[in-house]
Amino acid sequence: MSDTKGQHILIVEDEENISSFVKLYLEREGFNVTIAPTGAEAIGAFEEKVDLVTLDLMLPDMDGLEICRQIRAKSTVPIIMLTARDEDIDKIVGLEVGADDYVTKPFNARELVARIKSILRRASAPVKTSKRLESGRIQIDAARRECLVDGEQVMLAPKEFDLLWELLERNGDVLDREHLLEKVWGYTFAGDTRTVDVHVRQLRKKLGDDCPIVTVWGSGYKVGTEVHAA
Ligand code: CA
Repeated sequence: MSDTKGQHILIVEDEENISSFVKLYLEREGFNVTIAPTGAEAIGAFEEKVDLVTLDLMLPDMDGLEICRQIRAKSTVPIIMLTARDEDIDKIVGLEVGADDYVTKPFNARELVARIKSILRRASAPVKTSKRLESGRIQIDAARRECLVDGEQVMLAPKEFDLLWELLERNGDVLDREHLLEKVWGYTFAGDTRTVDVHVRQLRKKLGDDCPIVTVWGSGYKVGTEVHAA
């Protein structure tokens, strides 16, 4: 399915040559596009219905990471960070505050569009065969994209949810990082597998002792507890 018609992308970017270029590409693909050149405008524009946000980290009035935090406090909308800084620390902090993916500048507009489509495709993927899975005190619901611990909802970012789902659904199979990257992020090229590690760390932080994910040294990750359909 490549129906992008009417989907709304918010581009948070102060450099006009970049934002207008990306806008052009996205509009050609059928997206509706809004540009927010400042943090304040991004927060304002975000009140409208937005399907995905691309977020520049260096803005004149606000730190992109702070914007990411503010959006995440209210919403699970997919966020792709655009960073000019090729420093790992920014990417990792960005993923920790809830971004789903990042693209380093200078980037190829086609690659960005491919990533946007892949994330949106997954965000609107049809409900999987088994709708709810349970492991220990954790219950996750694919249709509602909800994660409950002992009946209490824990807010997960979209990729955190997908990663947890993939591991639970495979009930104890060891999955390597490349597999998870491809399944959850849709990369068909060799991506940066640290993205997977950062998301696992976040899941552990959010779920605490209830997090069922076990590291299998030299291989990848698996769930260490029994999984049932709920
Ligand atoms: Ca900038």
